Amino acid sequence: MSPAGAVRCQLLIPAAGAGRRMGLDQPKALMRVGGEPLVVRTLRRFVPLDLIDRAVIVVSPGYESVFESALQSAFPDARFSFTLGGDERQISVANGLACLDPDTDIVVIHDAGRPFVSGDAIRASIRAAEECGAATVAIPTVDTVLRADAERRLIDTPDRRFLWMCQTPQTFRVPVIHAAHASARLENYIGTDDASLVRRIGGEVKLVMGSPFNFKITTPADLVMAEYVIKEGLA
Ligand code: C5P
Repeated sequence: MSPAGAVRCQLLIPAAGAGRRMGLDQPKALMRVGGEPLVVRTLRRFVPLDLIDRAVIVVSPGYESVFESALQSAFPDARFSFTLGGDERQISVANGLACLDPDTDIVVIHDAGRPFVSGDAIRASIRAAEECGAATVAIPTVDTVLRADAERRLIDTPDRRFLWMCQTPQTFRVPVIHAAHASARLENYIGTDDASLVRRIGGEVKLVMGSPFNFKITTPADLVMAEYVIKEGLA
């Protein structure tokens, strides 16, 4: 229990992605990275922040018991809530939001596929969400980003100084993210992250500095990099 008056945070991990881009026949979050399931490795980053207990894990239908036994054997003292994901990440997150405890003030939403997030970035995102309602970890782009049409013709080249690459955690005051998801649902809008749903309804979203190591394991090349990061103890 948090001390009286303390802000109550819960962690929400969308882990219901299919892993098709990885060529997997099981959820990507269960794939072994550095000898253990990816979701376990990612959750370890939240242990020093006391965010493991009461974490909501969104899992793929049919794999509930596999997730449950992997997590309970890695974190025997934690009480997790499990819920089922949907076809889109946004639906999975919405299902997870419906499972938050009623007294939760702040929700920290983090992709199961980003196992190298730093404690500093998590803490900074919580502070920023307390201050302005919503925050996302992100890094400035190092590449020039091109906007193209469907025929691959260049439309324009946005000024790189103002472009950031989105990462997670994305952290919110609970009423803010509930309002953002409710509006998206009402208008059948599907986005690829949650901070953009808050911005869509006019909310302020603070960007918090992330790190190139906080990459999302999506393709076989990312997996090779992840194994190297672990072997060399880089993050
Ligand atoms: O698909 P993508 O790699 O962007 O997914 C980011 C995170 O969202 C992953 O942790 C994945 O497991 C999760 N996800 C989900 N439900 C989906 C799609 C993705 O929980 N339908």
